Amino acid sequence: MFSHTMMELPLTLTTLHRRMGEVLGHVEVVSRRPDKSFHTTTFGAIAARAEKLARGLLAMGIARGDRVATLMWNHAEHLEAYLGIPLAGAVIHTLNLRLHPDDIAYIANDAADRVLIVDAVLLPLYEKFADKVRFERVIVVGRDYEAFLDAAPPLALPALAESDPLGMCYTSGTTGRPKGVVYSHRSTLLHSLVSALPDSLRLSRSDTLFPVVPMFHVNAWGLPYTAALVGARLAFPGPHLDPVSLLEVMESQHVTIAAGVPTLWLGIREALDKEPARWKLHPGLTMIVGGAAAPERLIRDFDRQGLSLLHAWGMTETSPIGLVSRLPPELDDAPEALRYQLRAKQGVPPPLVEIAIRKDGETPPADGRSSGELLVRAPWVAARYSSNNTPDRWSDDGYFRTGDVAHRDAHGFVQLTDRTADLIKSGGEWIASQELENALMGHPAVREAAVIGLAHPKWSERPLAVVVKKPDAEVTEAELRAYLAEKFIKFWLPDVFVFTDTIPRTSTGKFQKTTLRAQFAGYQWPGTTD
Ligand code: ADP
Repeated sequence: MFSHTMMELPLTLTTLHRRMGEVLGHVEVVSRRPDKSFHTTTFGAIAARAEKLARGLLAMGIARGDRVATLMWNHAEHLEAYLGIPLAGAVIHTLNLRLHPDDIAYIANDAADRVLIVDAVLLPLYEKFADKVRFERVIVVGRDYEAFLDAAPPLALPALAESDPLGMCYTSGTTGRPKGVVYSHRSTLLHSLVSALPDSLRLSRSDTLFPVVPMFHVNAWGLPYTAALVGARLAFPGPHLDPVSLLEVMESQHVTIAAGVPTLWLGIREALDKEPARWKLHPGLTMIVGGAAAPERLIRDFDRQGLSLLHAWGMTETSPIGLVSRLPPELDDAPEALRYQLRAKQGVPPPLVEIAIRKDGETPPADGRSSGELLVRAPWVAARYSSNNTPDRWSDDGYFRTGDVAHRDAHGFVQLTDRTADLIKSGGEWIASQELENALMGHPAVREAAVIGLAHPKWSERPLAVVVKKPDAEVTEAELRAYLAEKFIKFWLPDVFVFTDTIPRTSTGKFQKTTLRAQFAGYQWPGTTD
């Protein structure tokens, strides 16, 4: 028998943590404070403080699998919690501070969080739901957190198994009630390793990584762990997320790679357009964009400035990396139009991720047109939810059913066309709302556009487009319809275009289509009577 010929060291944060102290001790972590000053510390200091946090938690009786919540911005202390809580054998549960206080309370109770670590500046938010939750202890960063660390007794940290839970996040509930996803030590380590690969997010010791995506949203896409694993220098925005503040960090900290949702980069593009000569960013700065589709125009606009958008797809349930849109070398000489078209797709699965596209149990041809539901499996994809189990989200052959509709082309690039819940059924045929949105956002006068299906007396549903124009830009409904008519068959064209100032968004920056649909409920289509 040849089994067990190699060491079976568990894939846990223990090894990553040790390395941070012993090998990567001087790598810097820079955080923006509420007063906008910059605070610099090192991996070595963070590793030591994370260990104290773990010992403090153990001393107060936190046991294996217990949940410890955080309500924090992105900064060094949050990274300490990312490490220290799991090192104690406990589970870090990152609460989403953009949710309604009642929803935060629901989620904290659902997860049975025992302790809360909260930023002093977020205490007013905590107070809004404090009477609805029962934390045994609330530790405030900026008040008693330092004393808590200093008082930690010299207890030994527990030996961890790689299947032990490490952290949990709730889905943002764009399409249903939030559900808890629990990541393990093993899933987190493997996800970090593959995320860092050159054909994935490409992260190394030479980088300064700027995770703007919140640490309470799918662990900032796992990036703090990836940086800790490879030794990338980290810059954190703290609570300052306006475009100018972000540009200040990118410039002053020589950021080489940043990450956030499309709206964020829309804001950055506008700030750069306004004062093109003001900012000196790292040439070739890469901005990872995910969470919602990256409009092709945005990718083109940034290229012109020497900055590069890297499009990726994922979900809370997938840790999140599932697809990355990096062009392979055989497309080096492909026509520019094709290259942009592919970069605006969600991309190809990185190693260890397997995908399938299925429609009525069949795999549609990879012709870049025929779509079906996207399924995914990987060592970092959830096998179940923490509660409210919904087994129908998993296929019999072990894939997670994403609820996203997608097709694949001859290059293997996957493109999402919609979420199943947002598809519009008109006269018995499906219309993909996201495809229309992506096309509309390619119009030079359009800043943002969302398309929703509304009940229609004759067609069952028809599309309505909600459009935000760029500042100082003008465009008419007829022009937009003619623009879309070049790309789509007639019945796909929205019947009505409504111009507004903003589109409602979820706590993680996606279009809130449920709110939009509610806003337009009972809409009287022109020329119809009910
Ligand atoms: P929620 O499911 O509540 O929106 P998540 O943050 O887990 O919360 O979102 C995952 C979903 O976001 C995906 O299923 C997909 O619909 C959408 N999404 C993520 N990345 C992209 C992308 N690059 N392009 C289009 N949609 C995306």
